Amino acid sequence: MIPIASPLINTEEVNRAVEVLRSGIIAMGSKVKEFEGSFSKYTGVRTAISVSNGTVALWLALEAHGIGQGDEVVTTPFTFIATANSILFCGAKPVFADIDERTYNISPEEVVEKITSKTRAIIGVHLYGQSFDLKSIIEICEDNNLILIEDAAQAHGAEFDGRKVGSFGTGCFSFYPTKNMTTGEGGIITTDDERIAEKIRLLRNHGEQGKYNHVMLGYNMRMTDIQAAIGIEQLKKLDEMNEKRRRNAEYFDRNIKAKGIVKPFVDGNVKHVYHQYVLRIEDETGMTRDEFAEYLTSKGVGNAVHYPLPVYLQPFYRKLGFEKGLCPIVEEIARKVISIPVHPKLSEEELKYIVDVINGD
Ligand SMILES: *Cc1c(COP(=O)(O)O)cnc(C)c1O
Repeated sequence: MIPIASPLINTEEVNRAVEVLRSGIIAMGSKVKEFEGSFSKYTGVRTAISVSNGTVALWLALEAHGIGQGDEVVTTPFTFIATANSILFCGAKPVFADIDERTYNISPEEVVEKITSKTRAIIGVHLYGQSFDLKSIIEICEDNNLILIEDAAQAHGAEFDGRKVGSFGTGCFSFYPTKNMTTGEGGIITTDDERIAEKIRLLRNHGEQGKYNHVMLGYNMRMTDIQAAIGIEQLKKLDEMNEKRRRNAEYFDRNIKAKGIVKPFVDGNVKHVYHQYVLRIEDETGMTRDEFAEYLTSKGVGNAVHYPLPVYLQPFYRKLGFEKGLCPIVEEIARKVISIPVHPKLSEEELKYIVDVINGD
């Protein structure tokens, strides 16, 4: 089976992690600082604050901006559940806006429809590694005095208008093993606002300001030096790994020709980093998406559905009162999408094999 995802870990990561273990300083030490410094420099922001995972990054970003009970946050339902859950964690209400039918990213027109007097923030997701329409969403934020949170968990190194995502609003990244770079588990928040950064540092470490001096209610959401050491090496390779993903995607773009299979749409002013390469299976194929998935699996081509349901139709969200019909476009798209392997470890033979299987040759 060609796996749908596979982290690229070499001797550099192994050696750096072992060095940390041997050094005796393995919790939050110099490696965490170094990693935060290189990540903020890479993303083009003043500060980056590492945390234990991407979910927590979103949660702390919202909390640091003071979002809580009585507030509404507009987001996309076509994402991993963590995006919406982070809104619930801080006591606010998620409000779902439908997606653009070409990019599958949050639709600015739909966002406008969902804004009320209680709206405080927008969380956009750079889905599959492609920036959402930052220009329009930023305009909406400015017009309505809203905070912009970028869920960039799938988009390390992606760009909008030549600038890295995560540098426009408060950026939230994940380093889970399937993402474009990994630290095992891990996350980071990027910002130019030193006040927000300081609040996040307090929230992630028991509200501690100076040794055993706790000035607010905080959590333990720290990254370890072992993770940071791995992250430092992964970041050095990120551009190269993303280039490989982009070349793989280009190969699929050129060679997948089967009828009824719609390839990814890429907006003109973005740099897509293909966290996922996602096909849409239309009726012309004579197959449902699930039948197509079974076919791929039977041929040894790993695949996955990102995502089979809009977040609000997950059992837990239904219990909160959300119902079918809320966002018709996402409900249709969720039945048709399927992700195929695009990760940087794919060989030329594997790429060719995947295309042959899809084209039915
Ligand atoms: C992976 C992911 C997250 C959560 O990150 P974790 O590190 O797994 O907690 C959040 N949002 C999106 C869009 C993701 O893909």
